[in-house]
Amino acid sequence: MGKNLLDKVWDLHSVRELDSGQTQLFIGLHLVHEVTSPQAFSMIREAGLGVPFPERTFATVDHIIPTDSQARPLKDGQAESMMSAIERNCREFGIQFFSTATGHQGIVHVIGPELGLTQPGMTIACGDSHTSTHGAFGAVAFGIGTSQVRDVLASQCLAIERPKARRIVVTGKLAPGVYAKDVILHVIRRLGVKGGVGYAYEYAGPVIEAMSMEERMTVCNMSIEGGARLGYVNPDQKTIDYLRGREFAPKGAAFDEAARWWLSVASAADASYDDVVTLAGEDIAPTVTWGINPGQAIGVAEPIPSAEQFAADERSTIDDAYEYMGWHKGDHVAGTKIDVAFIGSCTNGRLSDLREAARVAKLGRVKPGVKALVVPGSQEVARAAEAEGLHEVFTAAGFEWRLAGCSMCLAMNPDKLVGRQVCASSSNRNFKGRQGSPSGRTLLMSPAMVAAAAITGTVTDVRELLDAGKTQGEAR
Ligand code: SF4
Repeated sequence: MGKNLLDKVWDLHSVRELDSGQTQLFIGLHLVHEVTSPQAFSMIREAGLGVPFPERTFATVDHIIPTDSQARPLKDGQAESMMSAIERNCREFGIQFFSTATGHQGIVHVIGPELGLTQPGMTIACGDSHTSTHGAFGAVAFGIGTSQVRDVLASQCLAIERPKARRIVVTGKLAPGVYAKDVILHVIRRLGVKGGVGYAYEYAGPVIEAMSMEERMTVCNMSIEGGARLGYVNPDQKTIDYLRGREFAPKGAAFDEAARWWLSVASAADASYDDVVTLAGEDIAPTVTWGINPGQAIGVAEPIPSAEQFAADERSTIDDAYEYMGWHKGDHVAGTKIDVAFIGSCTNGRLSDLREAARVAKLGRVKPGVKALVVPGSQEVARAAEAEGLHEVFTAAGFEWRLAGCSMCLAMNPDKLVGRQVCASSSNRNFKGRQGSPSGRTLLMSPAMVAAAAITGTVTDVRELLDAGKTQGEAR
């Protein structure tokens, strides 16, 4: 039997097997941001160590950066000191830092691919759990903790266990109004938030193959929400076409040579897996979370499931979700009034996400009383969107057009929910208090669904709006 991509890339980067059963794995690309790196740099300094491969490490600022004004010094003293720390650390250790002045700043998982740093067959680590995003390119990419950031800085290696491989095949095709976000929410709903623990997810099948690179990034991004530390898609012609001409991608004949190698790391047709799961694309509806983890998700037309529909050991989590979110038995998420609409994040803050949301934003105006934010994932996304006039579409419809950053995904910056506000969000986590208010409530959905909720003021099946828009267009 042939090898799957995980095993090929793992074996190529394995320095040796350790007595612990772990692998000493060489890390091809290390991405760094301001939140999980300061302590790691301090530990390196205190131990008198250096960074032997600074050319393999790249840094940006995303979590703490405000999205209204990024003028220095930043108004928040703690944010300013984190910004100063990453600037100082990168200078001292010779690491390239994409500051706001470079035009390349943005969320670490948005800028890696758009700069061509992320390439197939690489091992990629970053002190951030959504590093799985980069797996969309056929890379073995995963999040690490602060002490592991130190290890990679000091040695370019990690001691890590090889995960098992689960192939998730999505057959058929998606209906109009159903997006990559719905696919991954559906996967997590079906397999559970812990279903992927110990696994790498290989996403495959006609639905995944038909996706753009940006859509594949959305899917891989949320692998960790299903418990899988990494997720990937086998590289194909779309991967190569995306990378051609990117700043850090090889050039000329070297690119063609690299492209041949990239295709060779894809899983063999007869590769073996520890598990295979098949889901039908036709079964996936626009999906919305109703609870306090991303697996508590339903098709927008479905009622919220009652505790009796779950296994006995899950019921306390379900009860907890009901209480925190304020639901009653028989409630539907559709029709729920929202206070805030957030379009952005490393899951859904890319150009194609903004295009889909703008298509919906054109159909109306933000409902009075709703605060609606559109936050591009990077400065490059912002430039591309502005060149297409998307910012004008959003602002004409009453959305705020912001500067690049993580914004309200994690609210380590001024963009926060207040009190019990309900937020329709294109981000990836709906944990209690995730968006900055200890009692704030998050409903995860696709960017088009967020735009629909912003316009109607309630959770709405985006297909109804798109169909109504089509009918109006035909009538005109
Ligand atoms: S957008 Fe959210 S999930 Fe992504 S890196 Fe930023 S805080 Fe983390």
